[in-house]
Amino acid sequence: MSYICTLFLIVLNKVQVRLSEVEENNRVVITKVLGHGSFRRRISEMGFVTGKEVLVLKNAPLFDPVEYQLLGYNVSLRRAEAELIEVITIAEALDLAVPTFDGTIDMEALKISAKEKSKTILIALAGNPNCGKTTLFNRVTNSKEHVGNYSGVTVDSKIASFQHRGYTLNLVDLPGTYSLTSFSPEELFTRNYIIEETPDIVLNVIDASNLERNLFLTTQLIDMDIKVVLALNMYDDLITSGAKLNQKKLGNLLGIPIIPTTASRGEGLNELFDEIIEVYEERNPVVRHIHINYGEELEQSIKAIRTEIKEDKPITAKLSSRYLALRLLDNDPAALETLKTSTNFNHINEVVQQEIARLKSRWNEDSSSLITNAKYGFISGALRETFKAGVQWRYAITGKIDRLVTHRILGFPIFLLFMFLTFFATFTLGSFPMVWINQGVAFLGDMIKSSMPPGMFKDLLTDGVINGLGSIIIFLPNILILFFFTSLMEDTGYMARAAFIMDKLMHKIGLHGRSFIPMVMGFGCNVPAIMATRTIRNRGDRLLTMLIIPFMSCSARLPVYIVLISAFFPNSPALILTGLYLLGITMAIIMAKILNRTLFRRKETPFVMELPPYRMPIMRNTLVHMWDKARQYLQKIGGTILIAVIIIWALEYFPRTKNIDPANPTSVTATQPGHSIYNQTQIENSYLGSIGHAMEPIIAPLGMDWRMGICLLAGIPAKEIVVSTMGVLYQTGKDDQKSKELLPEVLRAQEYYIGPKAGQKVFNQAVALAFLVFVLLYFPCIAVIATIKRESGSWKWALFTVVYTTGFAWIFSFITYRIALLFI
Ligand code: GDP
Ligand code: MG
Repeated sequence: MSYICTLFLIVLNKVQVRLSEVEENNRVVITKVLGHGSFRRRISEMGFVTGKEVLVLKNAPLFDPVEYQLLGYNVSLRRAEAELIEVITIAEALDLAVPTFDGTIDMEALKISAKEKSKTILIALAGNPNCGKTTLFNRVTNSKEHVGNYSGVTVDSKIASFQHRGYTLNLVDLPGTYSLTSFSPEELFTRNYIIEETPDIVLNVIDASNLERNLFLTTQLIDMDIKVVLALNMYDDLITSGAKLNQKKLGNLLGIPIIPTTASRGEGLNELFDEIIEVYEERNPVVRHIHINYGEELEQSIKAIRTEIKEDKPITAKLSSRYLALRLLDNDPAALETLKTSTNFNHINEVVQQEIARLKSRWNEDSSSLITNAKYGFISGALRETFKAGVQWRYAITGKIDRLVTHRILGFPIFLLFMFLTFFATFTLGSFPMVWINQGVAFLGDMIKSSMPPGMFKDLLTDGVINGLGSIIIFLPNILILFFFTSLMEDTGYMARAAFIMDKLMHKIGLHGRSFIPMVMGFGCNVPAIMATRTIRNRGDRLLTMLIIPFMSCSARLPVYIVLISAFFPNSPALILTGLYLLGITMAIIMAKILNRTLFRRKETPFVMELPPYRMPIMRNTLVHMWDKARQYLQKIGGTILIAVIIIWALEYFPRTKNIDPANPTSVTATQPGHSIYNQTQIENSYLGSIGHAMEPIIAPLGMDWRMGICLLAGIPAKEIVVSTMGVLYQTGKDDQKSKELLPEVLRAQEYYIGPKAGQKVFNQAVALAFLVFVLLYFPCIAVIATIKRESGSWKWALFTVVYTTGFAWIFSFITYRIALLFI
């Protein structure tokens, strides 16, 4: 009994001994590690955990770091880190424990005292004004603090202590705040208390009848990476309002245990403190640190600032660098003050100002409101999945639109409609500039043809480079339009809704929700999409997502679709295109299911899909966004594709066929180069032709000829090259008139000129469909394979991707071809 009182005093006088204060050659036992989660993880990985014995080796008052012996090893800690480790000294233990007869104490006794001492939990109450903190405080501590509808005039905290299941719980009633910025004295006080006094648990009391506003504070606690337990107070009001909340699911999403309470009647409080002990002892499975996703742009800023902050280690011992970065972006003067002592303070500040300016120019909005919006987006997303409002709930406009576009059933047709409209515009608007670009490219080719002496170099320039690149650049308008629409959907906030409804579907098919964003990115380019899987914590989830991303039809495949669709499905382009994208998605789903059952055994971790407020798109910003993507596309053309075009041209150019009789191509007679049959025979006899013919038995069942085989092979460096190769293979050697024709027309007119099928059309709708399906499904490009290798850390998965995607491509292409033949 007496030692309980002593403990009580120790806590109140704040005389807990910290490891940093222990003098040299003293042995102590750790009672607690304080500080934010990532710090605790790091320090406990070094062996600093409750109950462990530490010998202080070197501790000169002004020197950093301090040296310790722990588990037989010597380790050094920074002073700022050692300050966050609470210990019990022999002197303190002598005070606490019943002394042995001679007044000495051994290490065993010290450990027993440490165990007792670690059963003291400091809990800070945080929450909005009038959420019931004081009522709760009074209930459990039997005190009679003033309760009522007032906002605190004096900024103060009250502390009281009580026993629960053998633990001593010290409860601190902090002033009510809506937020933890530093703009009011209450906020500053509460925040400083949490940071400086490092309570073991922050008990976040929220008013269940006003979840959205109350959870705002919770998002800030999440940013701080501290241990939080949520009391869903005024639960009685929630029930009577008729609203329904799935608090278990919400808790899982937030990584915070939620306990319903009605403080005024004392209901739920036992369970609440049981849970707090579980969390304190790290036995609660719900607890996990989540990152609120602030969106690509903000995350980029956070990352830039974090890198700078992390240069100064002592500060990140106390505060999570992510939290500090966010506070700095929010123009928080107190955060800036914290960093004043950093050696690179000026540089940090510079980067912060840069990032704030960048965000401002990107969104026309200051970074503070961007952060606030993202937080409310996070809350809306979490509530949309777990909360059904009662009768009094009023929806804002955003809420009304969301009810429609994220509707359980209606959401999908709306999503499909938007996708369809996008593709429709891509085709119809994009077809006009196509003609102009084609004429431009043809003109350039003619210029070079007429101004250069004949020879290999001229052939390389005209047939290789200009033809090859020209057939890709021609799709730039289509791609710009597609990028414009996707940028528009992202900027208005619709993309987040699309992700939201898809997430529900993903869960149904056993796929992870977090995988959806990388998959959506995959529609642009698979490479960044695979890199984006880094946000997925679980390795199995991550690998699985990586492996199915190649089925997301990237923009490089679009040119192939455009050529074949305009050639063979001019009446229903958007339908076929939407169908292809959907087929890719379906394949991804099927593959996910298969892999889930076979290679991966995954455990799902829930997370919040943010629903940020809608915003009016600003045309300039959307155009910049679009151009960003287009630039990356053009850079790719400039590099890889140019090299690939030259290689393919060379494979087709050599070895040189000398003289060929047009009537009997296999015999050698005189014919002029430039003639169409001459050129086709040249190709057929070239290295490329040999490769294509070697492939023929494999692709013939798909209705394809050897040139299509070559096109598919040529697409390995990048899928756009499929089109440029078609340009080279099918368009070559036409007289000048024909070379001005668009590729789709050339393909339509293409006939077999020798062999059993001579005179028949090479392409028909069935062949075109089979080819489209193959291009969609077989692995996207070398860059993607290299990225999978890098991100998964082994060639195994990269090779696996090559094999299985190509296998699927063949099978589905075959099925498509056979079915299509029945109808065509
Ligand atoms: P504080 O500002 O967070 O300290 O909130 P108070 O403890 O002062 O409570 C504000 C008001 O809410 C008081 O009138 C309480 O009686 C009332 N209250 C507290 N808890 C509950 C509850 O669980 N249900 C209901 N209906 N009212 C509560
Ligand atoms: Mg109060």
